[in-house]
Amino acid sequence: MYGISALKKQFVIGSLGGVPVKADPRWFAVIVLTSAVIALGLYAQVKDLTSSIVFGTAAALVFFFSIFLHELAHALMARHEGVSVVAIVLHPFGGMTQFAEAPRDARAEFRIAAVGPAASFLLAVIFALAGAGAYYAAADILATILFTLSAGNLLLAVFNMLPGYPLDGGRVLRAYFLRTGKDQAEATRRSAQFGKGIAYLLIAIGAVLMVLRVDIFAGLWAMLIGFFLLDSAKTAMLHAGVAREITAGDVMRLPVSVPPDITVQRFVDELLPMHRAKVFPVSSRGDLFGTLVLKELKKRPRGEWRELRIEDVMIPIRREHFVGQNTPMDIVREVVRTNGIGAVSVVDERGKLVGVLNAPLPV
Ligand SMILES: [Zn+2]
Repeated sequence: MYGISALKKQFVIGSLGGVPVKADPRWFAVIVLTSAVIALGLYAQVKDLTSSIVFGTAAALVFFFSIFLHELAHALMARHEGVSVVAIVLHPFGGMTQFAEAPRDARAEFRIAAVGPAASFLLAVIFALAGAGAYYAAADILATILFTLSAGNLLLAVFNMLPGYPLDGGRVLRAYFLRTGKDQAEATRRSAQFGKGIAYLLIAIGAVLMVLRVDIFAGLWAMLIGFFLLDSAKTAMLHAGVAREITAGDVMRLPVSVPPDITVQRFVDELLPMHRAKVFPVSSRGDLFGTLVLKELKKRPRGEWRELRIEDVMIPIRREHFVGQNTPMDIVREVVRTNGIGAVSVVDERGKLVGVLNAPLPV
């Protein structure tokens, strides 16, 4: 599981390649509880309380390390896809990797989401093989622990692949909606709707398990996870709604515009060192002429820079390169995602340049 919203009380337990690893305090209560449950299960086999507790605690710690590995897989894939990771948070129901921005496209979204459950599944296979090894070596207690860890990781993989946002499976679903042409906000809203459905289902299953006294612990657990998921899905829908209300004018930056008639050399010598951007609007007295994309500029030989003017190398103005200042940010996000330059100019009602927005967008 992962998301953008932060949980409230967290403290840093370590750092990994500059990324803080945080824990929710409730997490420790869950470790104790999980240790106890595993210890209880082992007692029948071990027949010694102290050993059961030691084995149970060790198994619980290894399991929570597995959760960390699941999150690490998300974080590494995110980095690979150019999405910066803010923190890895271990919370009572697993983990959550927080990002500074949304993945740029459906493919990145899919990869980042799917790699977590894939890691858990791989761990389940590894623990199962190790368990089989231990079983044949007649190390029965170790075999039980390893099979428990295998089952735990398998459950983690399956649970996270349930198709409801913000679970990983919901992210995959969101990637699918993006692929089929929905904008970011709509894709989030739809997949979070599935998330809410799954949450209600978990709560209902939990309640039934408890009322019928089939398995009170599992029932309580299902209900807690259900409520947590419901809360996360609602928050995600709220965020998706917000992107509709915020407009380009609210979050744009003041434009650093480049006059069309100066030479490329002058731009490179005088303007570029002052303003680190990859895309610049080309304008004169507020009128937008086109867009200067550094990547395109670099294709021109340096020898030509003294002769070439900005208007010779810019992309002449296109509809998808600017938005009105009242355009909602969910639409702006869609424009920036698909227009090929990763930025837009912002114009007022009279069509005059008033701002710029570059990826990664603030909302
Ligand atoms: Zn995950």
